[in-house]
Amino acid sequence: MIKTEKLVMIPGPTPVVRSIQDQMGRPTVAFGDAGFVADFKQLVLDLNEMWGAEQSFVIAGSGTLGMDMALSNTTKAGDNILVCTNGAFGDRFKKMCLRKGLNLDILAADHWGTSVTAEMVEKKLAEKKYAAVTVTHVETSTGVVAPIAEIGKVLAKHPETIYIVDAVAAAAGVRSNLAEMNIDVLLTCSQKAFGVAPGLTILFASKAAFERRKALGELIPEAYADFEEWIPIMKDPSKYWGTPAVNMIWALKESVRIIKEEGLEERYDRHIRIAKLFDDALEAIGFKVAAEKGFRAPTLSVYLYPESEHVDDAKFRSLVGAEGAQVAGCLGAYAGIGFRMGHMGNIDKHVMIGAVAAVERACIKLGMTVQPGAALAVMQAGLAKED
Ligand code: PMP
Repeated sequence: MIKTEKLVMIPGPTPVVRSIQDQMGRPTVAFGDAGFVADFKQLVLDLNEMWGAEQSFVIAGSGTLGMDMALSNTTKAGDNILVCTNGAFGDRFKKMCLRKGLNLDILAADHWGTSVTAEMVEKKLAEKKYAAVTVTHVETSTGVVAPIAEIGKVLAKHPETIYIVDAVAAAAGVRSNLAEMNIDVLLTCSQKAFGVAPGLTILFASKAAFERRKALGELIPEAYADFEEWIPIMKDPSKYWGTPAVNMIWALKESVRIIKEEGLEERYDRHIRIAKLFDDALEAIGFKVAAEKGFRAPTLSVYLYPESEHVDDAKFRSLVGAEGAQVAGCLGAYAGIGFRMGHMGNIDKHVMIGAVAAVERACIKLGMTVQPGAALAVMQAGLAKED
């Protein structure tokens, strides 16, 4: 057999379609090029509108820069902050807050596989005043989705508190809207549900977030992360502050074109349908979805190995890769006992079938009791109902 091409089915980067690759392959132009400036400006306007934001930012960086930006522009040393965490990526905010000298309170999900709830946040906010609250929309270590709209309703009663949402593994795959959900800063990046290669931080901010930034004074310690430095560029990209990632910005513009063509609502619905198909298919061959029902993310899943099979984790993932789909290892409480699979962005029926087929073949090669085609049958039945 010739070598099977590997689909990138980790929870980001996700598969990058040809038309987006083409934008990255274009001859790079000067960042002051009139055509590029017009493209950049339109991209930012589209993002503002699609996410109900006062202003969006598109900056060279990864999701982590977005987390830094969110904290830097809305808090100062000595402020109280509440970090809501459902796993390893929620936990990431903790060290960042400590670096900044923030007074940190942690609100953790009862156990991995579930989420912090709006009621839990409401109780905390009744006890103490917080400058900011952070919530991870989709927790990449557990495949859990947090109720960000419900938490937003609680935050609406606390205008003194800035609501920060880490939507790295969610935005463009799971519904989020700043104006509708009372969110002040929503951060994400290019390589997840936008289906672009890694390289861009995408951040959305509300009016209240800008007011908070202004209240922090003229100079905050961070330069590259400062809203005030970037706002003039995002409003008029012919201006300069830091060199824009020209080809990546074109690539994101193409991603947004694809999203608009599909329709945001349909895109969110599709991700829900896709997730259910993947989960049902993998459950049909004995895997267990780690996230509890009602908390399952539309963008990625953690699949726990059937306990009776005593699966060698590293060997399993390496076999799935060799069979044509790169999947990721688990973190924290799930390390070694399952694998993570992304199912977000611009993935079509070929990709979905290819990914499930690779998992099935790996199971068969490992000698697990899996009927060839059992998972595929579920996926096929579901996909046959789709346009
Ligand atoms: N937050 C979440 C929820 C993530 O999944 C990740 C990356 N997996 C990050 C933050 C960090 O993003 P990046 O790796 O792009 O810096």
